[in-house]
Amino acid sequence: MLLSNTALRRREGKDPEVKGKSKGKSRKSGEEERTHAKRLNVVREKMEEKKVNALLVTHRPNVLYLSGFTGTSGFLLVTLEEALLYTDFRYLQQAGEQVSAFEIVKVENHVDYSHLSGQLTRSGLKHLAVEESHFSLREFNILKNAAPGIELLPLNNFLEEIRAVKEEGEIELIARATGIADEAWQELLPLLKPGISELEVACELEYRLRKRGSEKVPFEFIVASGERSALPHGVAGERIISEGELVTVDFGAVYGGYCSDMTRTFVLGEPSEKQREIYELVRDAQDMAFKMTAAGQQGAAVDAVVRRYFQQYGYDAYFGHGLGHGVGLEVHELPVLSPKGQETLQEMMVFSIEPGIYIENWGGVRIEDLVVLRPEGLQVLTRSARTLSLG
Ligand code: ZN
Ligand code: ZN
Repeated sequence: MLLSNTALRRREGKDPEVKGKSKGKSRKSGEEERTHAKRLNVVREKMEEKKVNALLVTHRPNVLYLSGFTGTSGFLLVTLEEALLYTDFRYLQQAGEQVSAFEIVKVENHVDYSHLSGQLTRSGLKHLAVEESHFSLREFNILKNAAPGIELLPLNNFLEEIRAVKEEGEIELIARATGIADEAWQELLPLLKPGISELEVACELEYRLRKRGSEKVPFEFIVASGERSALPHGVAGERIISEGELVTVDFGAVYGGYCSDMTRTFVLGEPSEKQREIYELVRDAQDMAFKMTAAGQQGAAVDAVVRRYFQQYGYDAYFGHGLGHGVGLEVHELPVLSPKGQETLQEMMVFSIEPGIYIENWGGVRIEDLVVLRPEGLQVLTRSARTLSLG
């Protein structure tokens, strides 16, 4: 465990727009404060490793992860000595309550880089790393103008790689979001009868998720029935679900800012022989992935094992997406388990395992569960049964 060496320094009174942290006002618990101070330390260690002296964080989930700030307008500057949150007047009070490890600086708007530029000059810094995938050309141009002498360095996945390895507290929140989804699914089952529409399924599910504490929908739910179930991302439509059709439902909850993600495929009534065969193949592939996934493997290697398994049965060409993805503050994050997945799986990573087979003009099957890599092995967070025949 890293010890915190982040001193909460306060600016001297000269700059009236800098709001120093008032400890008495903070509603954050000591534990939360320690969490964010620790994360800041980890980021600085990685900055030193990568020879980054100043980092601009603009991607909201990264801002939230590092500072605890949930506002929709704000960015962070992290140097080896300073940590500043820039936000506008609408969020000053909120930031004061949520943020402890960063000094809060008032700016005009989310692209007001004038203070940031002054800060870099005062600190004698010549380079600033920006989050390439989350930085628009407009923001780039405004920053270039505001800080003409500063060289901008593109960085990719800098914070995302840190976020991929979860803390115990984060896993608890993801497990709660998973539990809410499991409970909502259980409640939905008796309502699944021939004649219900895809939209009704999505709506009943969302209602039950929200009622159980889901803060929002983490993504647009997929309810794809009949031949549409061959569309891996078929969002719910007006289609009426009939007996004997494959139906794929992909959904999740959000709790404490953390997402869950699960998929179940079912048939109302008696499945056909082929439906059963494909379903069992997908379920067995998922079981195999549960068994062989371990820390130290590459995401691409785990994906390849499932692909080879499908190949034995001639279905590898029908598995058109990756085996899984990390889940946390975002529903799709690192690690990537796909032919392109370069990350090495590590303990305390949380990700989905979701093999699927999609046959055009026939239908598809996907089963998706969330897992966490524990030191003692893989733990499956999703508890819902995998049952093909319902109703
Ligand atoms: Zn999903
Ligand atoms: Zn997923």
